[in-house]
Amino acid sequence: MQCCALTLDKKRCANFARDASYFCDAHQNEMARISDTAPRRRGIFSRWRSVSTDGGKFDVPKWLNDLPTPRVMEHLQTHPDSIVRWMSAYVLRKRRAPEAIHALWHVLKQDPARVVRQQCAVALGKIGTPLVFAPLVEALNHDRDQSVRQACAIALGNLGLPGNLGMDATEEVARVLEQEENIFVKWDCIVALGQLGDPSAGSGQIARVEKLLIRLQAEEIAQVIRDACHDSLQEIRSRNRMMAM
Ligand SMILES: [Zn+2]
Repeated sequence: MQCCALTLDKKRCANFARDASYFCDAHQNEMARISDTAPRRRGIFSRWRSVSTDGGKFDVPKWLNDLPTPRVMEHLQTHPDSIVRWMSAYVLRKRRAPEAIHALWHVLKQDPARVVRQQCAVALGKIGTPLVFAPLVEALNHDRDQSVRQACAIALGNLGLPGNLGMDATEEVARVLEQEENIFVKWDCIVALGQLGDPSAGSGQIARVEKLLIRLQAEEIAQVIRDACHDSLQEIRSRNRMMAM
């Protein structure tokens, strides 16, 4: 199996994972991070968001719905019809099947159909274990399609990852936001930061996120972006106040 860590340029490590581990020799330290089993945090102000443009909706036929998960994964990876691949990702999303993470990551990386990649990102977000962090960050950085990057930003915002990974998600989304040109992806990153910005991550990180949002609020031409910055800042600050009480 391939290593589940990302390289510095936010691409999946090409090494083989060590036996009985998700990571190669060079990335064994990642194991400690993902095995952090602290309960998932979801602040009282957090918003749960779903992807509004779900890339079309198709009714999943009974034959596919009834298949065992390994067979659904097979269709996801090999079926020639992109609608069947989309429906397979949708079924895996409904089942929240952690055993499908590798197949979903693989397809998220290379499927030619944007709607299929988008559905894989949503499915990974729903599975929600710390292992889905890397595929979502990789696609947020590298997918050529706006709707896929949006789905990744939304999923990362919803994850509510514990400890180090939660801080990493904030850093990753903030870094992408600084470079992103697309207004829709920007908007989703800003809302995700409002969900993620967590006082327990340390005041340094929160200060950086706040600074970024304040700068965008002042500089952005689009009103929707300025409004999103305002809302996310409010959200982070009200959580800050709750923590201080
Ligand atoms: Zn590795």
